[in-house]
This record gives sequence, C-alpha cells and structure tokens, in this order.
Amino acid sequence: MADHDHAIVVEGLEKRYGKHRALDGLDLVVPRGTVRGVLGPNGAGKTTSVRVLATLLRADGGRARVAGFDVATHPDEVRYRIGLLGQHAAVDEELSGFQNLEMFGRLYHLGAGRARRRAGELLERFGLAETGKKAIKQYSGGMRRRLDLAAGLIMRPQVLFLDEPTTGLDPRGRREVWNAVRSLVGDGTTVLLTTQYLEEADQLADRITVVDHGRAIAEGTADELKSTIGGDRIDVVLHHADDLPAAASVLGMAARADGVETDEDALRVSAPVADRVAALTETVRALAAAGIEARDIALRRPTLDEVFLHLTGARPDEEGSRAEKEATPAGAAAGERGVRNEGEAAE
Ligand code: ATP
Repeated sequence: MADHDHAIVVEGLEKRYGKHRALDGLDLVVPRGTVRGVLGPNGAGKTTSVRVLATLLRADGGRARVAGFDVATHPDEVRYRIGLLGQHAAVDEELSGFQNLEMFGRLYHLGAGRARRRAGELLERFGLAETGKKAIKQYSGGMRRRLDLAAGLIMRPQVLFLDEPTTGLDPRGRREVWNAVRSLVGDGTTVLLTTQYLEEADQLADRITVVDHGRAIAEGTADELKSTIGGDRIDVVLHHADDLPAAASVLGMAARADGVETDEDALRVSAPVADRVAALTETVRALAAAGIEARDIALRRPTLDEVFLHLTGARPDEEGSRAEKEATPAGAAAGERGVRNEGEAAE
C-alpha cells in the first residue's frame, strides 16, 4: 500500500516525561477507512500517542503522519482533518444537545444555517433526535458520549481519535456508543480507538495493536491474536476447591502440561489442547478415574484477555481497578489485571 492509502503512519515515535519513556519507539500504520483498536494496560502510552497524533503534544523523536500530513511540521493541516473524543465529555451542561452541536458548528465557522442543519443530522444519526431539546444535564452517560461523538464529527473529519470512549459507562451505555461508532465506519472515516476493554476492541476494531511500555508488541485481527497463544482450550469447572490440584494434574496429562492455569475463585482449571476430541475424551476418562466430579467441561477459543495476559503479563494496577469499579461493579476481577473484559463485566 502506498503512503496515501494510510490515514495514520507512525514510525519510531518517542515521548519522554523526565526520565520516563511514555512512548518508546511506537510504530503504527492504519489504512484509510478502517477501525484500529489500540489496546494496552494503564500507563502503556495510549493517551500520549493520541495526544501526539492529534497535535496536542510534541513528540521527542520519530515521525507521525495523519491524513497525509506530518504532525510536527503541519499541525494545522492535521487539525483541520481530525476529530477527537477524549475520556471526558466536553459539552455545556446547561445547553441542549442541539444547542451544543450548533455551538460547535459555529466555533468551526460553519454559517448559522449549516451549523443548525449539521446539528440536526448528527442528532438523528446518533439516535438523539428525540432528546436533542433536553439540557445535557438530563442525559445518561451513554447519551453524553454519543453527543460527544457527534461533536467530534461536526467537520466530517477524515480521522477520528476515540480515547477510551466508554470508560465509566455501564454495559448498556457502552453498547450504545459501540453502535454509534459502527455507524461511522460506513462513511470511510478512519477511527483510532484506544481502550482497556478487550471486548470493545474485539467488537469494533478491524485490527488491534497491543501496546505496552510505549511500543507496539503485537498486531493483528482479534482472531490472529488469539491464534498466537495456540488453538482451543479446555475448561473444567469443579464443585470443590479441594479438587483443583488433582484436576490440574489430570489436565496436565490430557492436555498440554505447560499451559495449565488454575482459577481458584471460579473453581476452574484450564489448558490449551492440540487435539480437541482426544483431549476432551481423555479428560473425562481421567477425571472419572480420579473420582473428581466436574460441574462443567468445555472446549473453547482463547479469549483476548488471555492473549493480553500472555503478551503483557499485565498485573494488578490501582488505577485500572478504580476505573473498573466506576465502569461496572461486576468487573473487578478483570480490572485487577489492569485490563477489562466486557464479557466478564456484562450485566
Ligand atoms: P491509561 O489507560 O491509564 O489512560 P495510557 O496507556 O493512556 O494509560 P498514558 O496516559 O499515555 O498511558 O501514560 C503513559 C505513561 O506516561 C504513564 O506512565 C504516565 O504515568 C506517564 N505520563 C503521562 N502523562 C504524563 C505527564 N504529563 N507527566 C509525567 N508523566 C506522564
């Protein structure tokens, strides 16, 4: 693909805060009209990279082109072609949704008539036509984020940056925002979406770049990334915690011994398998022979969560746990790893 086929080209980007390297040679190439998920634990450098690409922050090294222009030498050209939705809503609480969008349009020098028309179009598109006359303070979290998205699209940007767009939303609000993002893609808008929600990247992104310590450590579709840690896995869920060690040793023989994992809270033992049916049959037989009663036995694909842990070894993180609790009370287990899995946090 030629350079002009790419909406974003990042090469060896560096950003230091004192001695700390927030970006440490980040590479990223995003074809036009696609959604790229940038997935990483807290502090991986996601927000820093978005801020550099959106020309809000200057890099210390490397090169970045957005919509065909270098962010360092042509920031105005870049700004003219991008939209940005940050982690916090930037709308006026007292004004209605319609008035907010109209105001953004006027700020961008659309004439009064065009600003009103564009506000109406965008409210319609994001399912806010009915609520457009209400003051923002009466909106739910999901409605606010959709309004934010609409505000980011006033000028029909070629590239839209969404920095953790669903942080703090409940599962319903999150799904509303996902649907809104999906509706953008048909337009040919390129979307760069940072997220800590594995399921969000799985749902929305054409490809996912995993970042850690300021650099890209893996890239691919969700399926390709899942394949990097091998094929299917077998899960055995038990009735009693006392049986966990014996079940782990059964799986160690029936499946691949090097990958056996035990989840004490979920009373689950799991392992990667090479030959699905043989491993399942052998597991059932060996469990019965050892007198272990299983509550459930299942074959499944690896989750992105497992891929993520495999790649980054992400571990408990105060900030991640806090954000997780705000997002959904049910997701604390996933939040402990600094990355949230929507599948685990669903209602
Ligand atoms: P999160 O998911 O928590 O938003 P992130 O992947 O977006 O994390 P960044 O916000 O880009 O990560 O931060 C990358 C690293 O740089 C972190 O270690 C952070 O503490 C540090 N950092 C970010 N901004 C600053 C700043 N203004 N001054 C000093 N250090 C900073």
